[in-house]
Amino acid sequence: MNKVNITDIKSLLSSKKKIIIVPHKNPDGDAIGSTLGLYHYLCQLNHDVKVISPNEYPHFLKWMPGENSILKYDTQTEVCSTLTQDTDIIFTLDFNALHRAGNMESILSKSEAIKIMIDHHQAPDPYPNFTYSDVSMSSTCEMVYNFIDMLGDNELINPDVATCLYAGIMTDTGSFRFPCTTSKTHRIIADLIDKGAKNSEIHNNIYDTNSYQKLQLLGCALSNLKVLPEYKTAYITLSQDELNKFDYKKGDTEGIVNYGLSLNNIVLAAIFIEDKQEGIIKISLRSKGDFSVNDMSRSYFNGGGHINAAGGRSESTLEETVEKFISILPSYNNALNNE
Ligand code: 5GP
Ligand code: MN
Repeated sequence: MNKVNITDIKSLLSSKKKIIIVPHKNPDGDAIGSTLGLYHYLCQLNHDVKVISPNEYPHFLKWMPGENSILKYDTQTEVCSTLTQDTDIIFTLDFNALHRAGNMESILSKSEAIKIMIDHHQAPDPYPNFTYSDVSMSSTCEMVYNFIDMLGDNELINPDVATCLYAGIMTDTGSFRFPCTTSKTHRIIADLIDKGAKNSEIHNNIYDTNSYQKLQLLGCALSNLKVLPEYKTAYITLSQDELNKFDYKKGDTEGIVNYGLSLNNIVLAAIFIEDKQEGIIKISLRSKGDFSVNDMSRSYFNGGGHINAAGGRSESTLEETVEKFISILPSYNNALNNE
C-alpha cells in the first residue's frame, strides 16, 4: 500500500464510520486474530465496528478478547445482511477473492461500501477500493500491525490488539518456524509482548486445549499416513466414518498435514478429508522449498494459497481424489526430486 492510499485511508477514518470486518470462510487463527486486532484498534477511534464471520470457527479460538461479539453470517443471516448493506467501509481480511467468503460472496460483491483488502495470499482479485497485499508477509496479523503503524497509531496497540495479532502470527508461522518468519516478524512479536500479549498463555489457549477424542483422531490419521519416497511425498486420508468415530469437531484436523512434512526427505505433504455433508473432499497441501503447492492446487484442486501451504477441494470420492493426486505426481517428478 503506497503513501497516497494510507493518506486517503487516514482521512477516511478521521470521522466516525460504520465498519464491517470480514475474515474468510472457516476462519483460522490468522483470520480471527487479524479481524479482532483491527476491531480493537478501530473501536478506539470511535467507529461503529462489527466483525462478521461467514461461519463458525474452532473452539481453540474462542478465548480471544472480543471473540464473543463476532456475528456469524450463516446462522445470523438477517442481522448480518442488514449490517452489511448499511455500512460505509468493509475490510476483507486474510483472503484474496470474494468466493473465499463463502455464502457472503454475493452480499459483499453487491455492496457499494468502500472495500479495503489486507491479505498475504497470491494473486489478489481487483475488487477492493484499497488493496494492501504482500505475499512475503508471514500473516495478515503482521500486516494489520504494519497497517496500524503506517497510520501513525502504534501507541493504540493495546493489550487486546496485541493479544489478537500475536495469536494470528503464531498460528500462521507454525509458532515462528515457517520460512515466512523474518527478523521483522520477531521484532513485531517482541513489540506485541511489550504491549501486553501474554505469549505463553496465548500458546496454551490455542495448542493445549485438546480433547481426548481429537488426539485419538490424530492417531487414526497417522496410522493412515502413506509415503511415496520416489516422489518425496506423504499423504494422509480421513474418511467421514473415521471423523464420526472420533466425534470430529471443527478444527480437530488442523495441522495434521504437517506431520507428513516432518518426515525425513519429504518435500510434499497432503491430507484428504471427506466431508459428506458438503459432498466434497477438503484437501490441504504443504511443501518445502520452492515446490509450489499453490500452483498444484490451482491447476488440479480448485484452490490456491501460498507457495508452501495451499488448500483445495474435490467433488470426486476420497479414493478417486487420492488416485488423481498420485496420478499427477510424475509430472512434478523433477520439481520434487530437485528440492
Ligand atoms: P488450509 O490447508 O490450512 O486449509 O489452507 C492453507 C492455505 O491455503 C491458507 O492460507 C488458506 O487460506 C489457503 N486456502 C485454503 N483453501 C483454499 C481454497 O479453496 N482456495 C484458495 N484460493 N486458497 C485456499
Ligand atoms: Mn493467513
